[in-house]
Amino acid sequence: MSPFLDGWIAHRCGLDAATPQSVLRVQLARFNAVLRHVRRNGVFYRKRLAGLFERRGDLIETGMWPREPFDVAEIPLTEAADIKRDGGRFLCVPLDEIARIVTLSTSGTTGIPKRLAFAADDLESTLDFFAHGISVLVRAGDSVLILLPGAERPDGVADLLRRALPRIGARGIPGDPAADPKLFRKEVERYRPQCLVAAPSQLRRLLEGLESPPNLRAVLSSAEPLPDDVRGALAARWGCAVFDHYGLTETGYGGGVECPSHDGYHLREADLYWEVIDPFSGEPVPDGTPGEVVFTTLTRRAMPLIRYRTGDLASMLPGPCACGSPLRRLSRIRGRLARGKDGTLTVIAPSKGWMGP
Ligand SMILES: [Zn+2]
Repeated sequence: MSPFLDGWIAHRCGLDAATPQSVLRVQLARFNAVLRHVRRNGVFYRKRLAGLFERRGDLIETGMWPREPFDVAEIPLTEAADIKRDGGRFLCVPLDEIARIVTLSTSGTTGIPKRLAFAADDLESTLDFFAHGISVLVRAGDSVLILLPGAERPDGVADLLRRALPRIGARGIPGDPAADPKLFRKEVERYRPQCLVAAPSQLRRLLEGLESPPNLRAVLSSAEPLPDDVRGALAARWGCAVFDHYGLTETGYGGGVECPSHDGYHLREADLYWEVIDPFSGEPVPDGTPGEVVFTTLTRRAMPLIRYRTGDLASMLPGPCACGSPLRRLSRIRGRLARGKDGTLTVIAPSKGWMGP
């Protein structure tokens, strides 16, 4: 049996076996298809990448470029501010093919909301990742209490997760995201979930007022970086296995999830091409070196994102995982980059050990 997620990634890439080299070949071919898609159908990228299309257009049209990660570094980066300013111009499908628009009113300096659009098949690939990713902690027959927000919104993150769970024979129950320990205890007594999905801030609140919930075996932490003390308290006080997930709305919610070795995130490599760059120079950094996480959507149709800067600081972990997977893993998120109005970058480092660039 192949290690966690590797069989699924191989299947999604049309490969017999997923190795770093075979997956990279598929990713670069998909990257090429994304470039052709946005050149034909996307107003924003046709303009942003005009210089690239002038230099590399013939090679791109014949499927010959990019050929290696070195080539990718030549492509301009995309920032959150680009989406805020030019949201609609990112669209690459007719409006009637858009199944869902997510509006993010982030705390950014401009206050302008970010809008992201998804086609039905974009959402389907998220459902597929959720079903396979969460199988690291959820078994057939389990009930999963989901405290993430968005259960009331069709295609919100909680709703997508609830719909993905029956694919592995499990049941998802939307809980109250604002639950205090008392209400949470009622929900736990009523549904007796084996697994819980929640953000660290929710988990911290619930840990304060509740002894080990009966039946609860595993917790998936998502939406924010998981602090060590919350992870430790879940294991020590609740006796739970704890798995951390990394993803943004921009990645189509899912991005990567820990395996039982808990040594970095196994990435959603069939759908996303990940890079780590020096946030100040924009140059790629070697594995093991911290930098800003950047991704490109490889299968997104409605609103592809090319070399999108997440503002999250992490590193690619060198070497294979203890679980046996040879594929790349992303380290835990070590900090955030804040961008001032004048474009200056500040490193916010909540976790110990982050040295800064
Ligand atoms: Zn692993």
